[in-house]
Amino acid sequence: MKTEAVVLRSLRYGEADRILHLYTPARGRIGAIAKGVRRARSRFGGRLEPFFRLKIELHEGRSELLTVTGAQTVEGYARLRGDARALDAAARACDAVGRLFETGEPHPGVFNLLCRQLALLDEQAGTPGQAAARAGSLSFRLKLLLAAGLAPQLGACANCGEPENLVGFSGAAGGVVCGACEAGSFAIDEQAHGFMTEALGRALTDVPAATDPVLGQVERAIAATLEHHAHLRLMPAFAGR
Ligand SMILES: [Zn+2]
Repeated sequence: MKTEAVVLRSLRYGEADRILHLYTPARGRIGAIAKGVRRARSRFGGRLEPFFRLKIELHEGRSELLTVTGAQTVEGYARLRGDARALDAAARACDAVGRLFETGEPHPGVFNLLCRQLALLDEQAGTPGQAAARAGSLSFRLKLLLAAGLAPQLGACANCGEPENLVGFSGAAGGVVCGACEAGSFAIDEQAHGFMTEALGRALTDVPAATDPVLGQVERAIAATLEHHAHLRLMPAFAGR
């Protein structure tokens, strides 16, 4: 079969092979083996490395792993590769996609979202702005939650429906909670609540600005949601320095 794919991970295997974790629009996450790829004269060159967006040909045999028979680069994101912070953010984005969408269920929107995030990281590589980079990574993660059907409830108390006095966030309730329902929640302020609402409503290119403490609350809310509803713990969205 022929498909587009983003390389999420690329692991050395045996003498000269690589095992690839690929994310595809129509087949979700798939595993593939590329034979002889680490030999100097491999026809695949260096394009089976993480974050490459490829047009890839795969042979489906009896094994669970498909065999790579051809690959062309759609995007190599070369600038991203020269910036340690962008490279790290790309690895975290790919890790989140691979773990939150680990089956063959198709989510073409997630594929597009990942490609957009990689393109943005490539575009922003080499520019300073730590808070903006963290805000971007968290916006991406919120959009992944939405695609997974796990978007937190933000419009009213997730427990009783009260629209005012929303003071906490509860992973178990699945969103913000009011003062009467705050047991088991952690405090969240208006800016963090606002950031989540805006980030979910806006494009990835238009990430709302926020301070580091606000982003800390957002990250905690995302982690609590994932832990309660997907039993998943991701690495932090952003490494810091
Ligand atoms: Zn309530």
